[in-house]
Amino acid sequence: MITLDPVSARGDGVLRVLCIGAHSDDIEIGCGGTLMQWLSTGTPLAVTWVVLSGKAERGAEARRSAKQLLNRAAAAEVVLGEFTDGRFPAEYNAVKDFFESLKARVNPDVVFTHRLEDRHQDHRLVGELTWNTWRDHLILEYEIIKYEGDLGNPQPEHRTGGKVRHRRLEVCESEIG
Ligand SMILES: [Zn+2]
Repeated sequence: MITLDPVSARGDGVLRVLCIGAHSDDIEIGCGGTLMQWLSTGTPLAVTWVVLSGKAERGAEARRSAKQLLNRAAAAEVVLGEFTDGRFPAEYNAVKDFFESLKARVNPDVVFTHRLEDRHQDHRLVGELTWNTWRDHLILEYEIIKYEGDLGNPQPEHRTGGKVRHRRLEVCESEIG
């Protein structure tokens, strides 16, 4: 099996991770287990946790679950956009500007984002703009498996152990409506 062990580009041992999700449950579902797995092995992470539709209650959910999942992180920052769930393509210019502001804010070692082939319009746009914005970075796409069949031919699979999987589900159930 090929292993993936990203390293800090700055030589300080801290891995800068940018996680981007359209909605307040996407990061938890898509890459929460990988983050928890890395943290459980002692990898120091500085995580920027971005939710584009983070208004009001959804923003509060994002903050709560990020706090729980990243409690072992060296640093964690939550960045919330206020875009309308289901309408990102209609807000294209503003979403693009949001990504440009993220680029100025963080220079990550690893970026987690939605799959380009995701059929949800918000997910797909986030995936596209991620690749447009970070052109020389390691980008790992995650799946949100759902009714319209977001099952394709994914990049490498990262398996997480039972304990990590159980804890991730616990946080999702307790913090996300
Ligand atoms: Zn979503």
